[in-house]
Amino acid sequence: ENSHTVEPLIKPEVVPPVVRFAVAEKFIEMCRSLSIWPMAFGLACCSLEMMAAGMSRFDLARFGSEVFRPSPRQADLMIVPGAISKKMAPAIVRLYEQMPHPKWVIAFGSCAISGGPFVFKEQYGIIEGIDKLIPVDVYVPGCPPRPEALFEAIFKLQELIGGKRWWPHPPKEAK
Ligand code: SF4
Repeated sequence: ENSHTVEPLIKPEVVPPVVRFAVAEKFIEMCRSLSIWPMAFGLACCSLEMMAAGMSRFDLARFGSEVFRPSPRQADLMIVPGAISKKMAPAIVRLYEQMPHPKWVIAFGSCAISGGPFVFKEQYGIIEGIDKLIPVDVYVPGCPPRPEALFEAIFKLQELIGGKRWWPHPPKEAK
């Protein structure tokens, strides 16, 4: 026998299969949480802040989610940035259904949360929140929210998926 052979600390045959599966699942969740791919689509003014988040000044790439995909079949995150008109609603639902599981949704801005400033008496064209159509994981208030707010939503999503927040909390504002 070769005297330089290194014995593994834990022999694979002594680790029960269920434990191996749990470890693999944890590792996959961590990788998944740090490489969320958003779908490239916009609805209204909030889309501009979403686009700014991906540009060099804010640089979403630092957090693993800069790969905006042009096809729902390659995306696992739908950011809903803007007002949802009743005419657009079926297309949004169709896009969501075309995304493979697991998938997540961020309601980005007041319009996506509740219809925003377009909801008034006898309005007939705007849906009062994307959660009337599809499930939402994280809500981001604002009109529009800033790119940093989108970062915070993605950190929250990473925490939901992988069970860990990887980035420090922003410093508290001085009173
Ligand atoms: Fe525009 Fe404000 Fe609605 Fe965003 S929340 S789409 S900024 S009106």
